[in-house]
Amino acid sequence: MSERPKSRARAEIRTLLERARRVLIVAHVEPDGDAIGATLGLAWALRRRGVSCTLACAHPVPDSLRFLPGSEAFAPRWRTDEDAIVVLDTSDTQRIGEIYRDERGGVPLVVIDHHVTNLRFGDVNWVEARASTCELVLDLVGDLGVPLDVEIAACLLTGVVTDTRGFRTRNTHAATLAAAMTLMDAGASLGDIMDAVFRSRSITTLRLWGVALERLQHEDGIAWLEVSQDDLRRAGAPPSAADGLSNLLSEVREVDVAVVLREVRANVVDVSMRSTPRVDVAAVALSLGGGGHRQASGCLLKLPLPEARERVLDALRRAVA
Ligand code: AMP
Ligand code: MN
Ligand code: MN
Repeated sequence: MSERPKSRARAEIRTLLERARRVLIVAHVEPDGDAIGATLGLAWALRRRGVSCTLACAHPVPDSLRFLPGSEAFAPRWRTDEDAIVVLDTSDTQRIGEIYRDERGGVPLVVIDHHVTNLRFGDVNWVEARASTCELVLDLVGDLGVPLDVEIAACLLTGVVTDTRGFRTRNTHAATLAAAMTLMDAGASLGDIMDAVFRSRSITTLRLWGVALERLQHEDGIAWLEVSQDDLRRAGAPPSAADGLSNLLSEVREVDVAVVLREVRANVVDVSMRSTPRVDVAAVALSLGGGGHRQASGCLLKLPLPEARERVLDALRRAVA
């Protein structure tokens, strides 16, 4: 593969991590395959260099990602007795969740992320628009001179696969496939990863989707649906059961923008948006205090469900117009 021009931040991060003996590595709230894959992939690589790594996440690792080696070691913690704190796949401090502390006693905060909406909240920020954060970590592992092994490769390939929804998103480029090839050559099983992450829904989840889809709304290319606390209670499903619903809506021909509003607690609504290339939902999410990618974004609104819906639809109607 040809050598890409190295950004200054990338070079600084390499130097910082070459000198570090202890590192805290942090994934975002409600972690997905890219967040868990990138944190674990980096941890395995640093451990090969004798670095002691501690993994942090405000929320538990979802069942579908527990197959990844080391995934049992995440805990909701924040430590400042480290040589560096590395936050991965996270566009702002709110996405770190309640473990985040502004105070870190001079420990450098390193941000490595692929979201265009990243607020560059670290002391060093390497933000580059790739299909996944795991691809950035793959480059970093190379910079550090750590040979790929099957653990590192499986973790990183998981992030590539999940963030591209199985190589289907528009930001899947030849370089994405090349990264996947490198990781498969290093021993990662694409089939095992695909099965683990995409064959992971339950009947309970599907019943919840049935209830929600029954109430699907559609207007001028915008489709939306809502999952309330009441729906979740009745189905006996956790809020994460609504994951994947916005992707499903985005597969509908008539839909330019798909929105799923999920009431995670009373008066707190998680919004998941998907769009065709024509509409920039990252900008909409950013304007609502969230972030993401042009065609896949989200935000968290501290509002009752009906008000959250109106706020989001208002912003989307303007974006679509
Ligand atoms: P999701 O709809 O949850 O799959 O998220 C789609 C994209 O939007 C992901 O890249 C997330 O990182 C981003 N995203 C979702 N919720 C938020 C939020 N509250 N703040 C910032 N980014 C978000
Ligand atoms: Mn993520
Ligand atoms: Mn990601």
